[in-house]
Amino acid sequence: MAKRDYYEVLGVSKGASQDEIKKAYRKLAIANHPDKNPGDKAAEERFKEASEAYEILSNEQKRQAYDQYGFAGVENGGAQDYSNVYRDFSDLFGGGFGDIFGSFFGGGGGRSSHGSRGPAVGSSLRYDVEIDFKEAVFGTKVEISYSHQVHCSTCNGSGEKSGSGKKVCPTCNGVGQVRRNSGFFSIASTCPTCNGEGYIIENPCTECHGSGLMRKKQKLKVTIPAGVDTGNRISISGMGDAGPNGGPSGDLFVYVNVKPHSYFERSGNDLYCQIPISFTQAALGGDIEVMTIDDVRVKVAIPAGTQHGKVLRLRNRGVPKLRSSSDQRGDQYIKLVIETPRKLNREAKKLLNQLSEVLGENKRPEPVPFTE
Ligand SMILES: [Zn+2]
Ligand SMILES: [Zn+2]
Repeated sequence: MAKRDYYEVLGVSKGASQDEIKKAYRKLAIANHPDKNPGDKAAEERFKEASEAYEILSNEQKRQAYDQYGFAGVENGGAQDYSNVYRDFSDLFGGGFGDIFGSFFGGGGGRSSHGSRGPAVGSSLRYDVEIDFKEAVFGTKVEISYSHQVHCSTCNGSGEKSGSGKKVCPTCNGVGQVRRNSGFFSIASTCPTCNGEGYIIENPCTECHGSGLMRKKQKLKVTIPAGVDTGNRISISGMGDAGPNGGPSGDLFVYVNVKPHSYFERSGNDLYCQIPISFTQAALGGDIEVMTIDDVRVKVAIPAGTQHGKVLRLRNRGVPKLRSSSDQRGDQYIKLVIETPRKLNREAKKLLNQLSEVLGENKRPEPVPFTE
């Protein structure tokens, strides 16, 4: 059977706020809870379906991935097993579900732990970019687009229609929690009328339905400085999600992942590569030209009598030091690899035979320690 769209499952629009998603899920979870519908397979299916949809849509990052790539974008998409979600009673009221159903065994009159009555800082968001090796060395600009929560422009994040004000919640009398008996337990749960806020908005803003938040698509040009490496992050303050109740926004963290280069290896700010030379070049010495990361060829002198594996250093031809105003760079190291000619024509063979006679060959070379 084809999976239903998560938004469709919860019966909310694509632009739904976290509040709307939470409310929709709570309704479905309570109505279809297996404890309430023993033996009803259809209800159980609806409960599992709703739990899965909520798990994804309540998490900004998973939701973004789902919006962009569908089920394929969501880690463990449908593979995760939700059949155990409800078996353990505490699962539903503790852990990840705690903020929906309020604290389990909550002390009388105590506020629910999330304490969302005042303004709070919004969530920070993570965005991953992949850039080329050379872009990391010299810096680049990347355009990213993502969606985040911003304060509703109509009510400035207050959630109320201008001047309408707030009043103490009649259901919980401002406590933010209600208690009810369920089976063996007396459960203190978040007041469904006011969501634990303790007050209700008499006249909610029509734009954001009282949440004070709305989703906005955002495009940003991010400057990636020269010298970044995999794992570095660029933080852009205030570009995360807006905080609830008019609170400040979290930050956006852009994490950099650098693609490998075809021949350069990087270690810190130094670059490493191998350069093959012929054994006559190694024996006689001479100049060669070596490619650098700047795409220029620089002259390198090979000393006569160079041995296989010798490493030469090209100063200041490595990676620029991150956030350094000077022209300081790391170095480029080249390892000389001596190649033995594979195909010899008659002339070359003759000359080598002559060389062999002149130099003489050692038929009993002495062993030396093994190295790579
Ligand atoms: Zn509003
Ligand atoms: Zn209330």
